[in-house]
Amino acid sequence: MRWENGTIRWSSRLRKADVRRLYKSYMAGFGFEDLLDDIGTTLYIRCSDILYLRDAREGVGGGWRCLPCESRPDAAGPGPRMESTGRRDPHFTGHGDELFACPVCGWEFSFGAMRNTFRNKQLHSGGAVEAFEGFVKAWPTAVGDVHAKMRAVDLLIHSFHYSLRSEPDLPIRAAGVNLIEGRLKDVLAFLDALSADRQDEAADRWRKERRKQKW
Ligand SMILES: [Zn+2]
Repeated sequence: MRWENGTIRWSSRLRKADVRRLYKSYMAGFGFEDLLDDIGTTLYIRCSDILYLRDAREGVGGGWRCLPCESRPDAAGPGPRMESTGRRDPHFTGHGDELFACPVCGWEFSFGAMRNTFRNKQLHSGGAVEAFEGFVKAWPTAVGDVHAKMRAVDLLIHSFHYSLRSEPDLPIRAAGVNLIEGRLKDVLAFLDALSADRQDEAADRWRKERRKQKW
């Protein structure tokens, strides 16, 4: 997300047309580098937003971090932890009335107002934390290697949520819906088509996991 004139701007999802164009030009072997960088950067910011909200929800690293402090040009790392009063809403169901304030700059928000900024934006990490964290680690290290970059993008958009303790190998949702515009059904059809003619490991894995699904 970006902190802009006192407003939070959450990252957007990828457009299917851009993803299709990237795969086409990558297969053709030329003219894909700039688009790959744009798409990878969008995904990097998107995954960072998802993990920011995961941290806030689960109290990782102290929970909510101050965005104005974090986005200052001289900020050396994550913003300071927000101090809070009121009733917590640990699952973000909308029942809390917690108020937050930054001990350093004084930025304040109520949980309800903050929740309204990210509701229905498909930013819930669910059972795909490993995939989002994996990309945030892989993308910066792939610098200068277009094939490593493409592999990281490919792996991420074809990953799944796994949440059921009783069936840890059963995919329950495609992570692509957190990353690509559209409803789950459209995103699944799009990713099916994207991997249909390919015989590589990522495409094979996608098909294998898709066959297990009950949704
Ligand atoms: Zn602050």
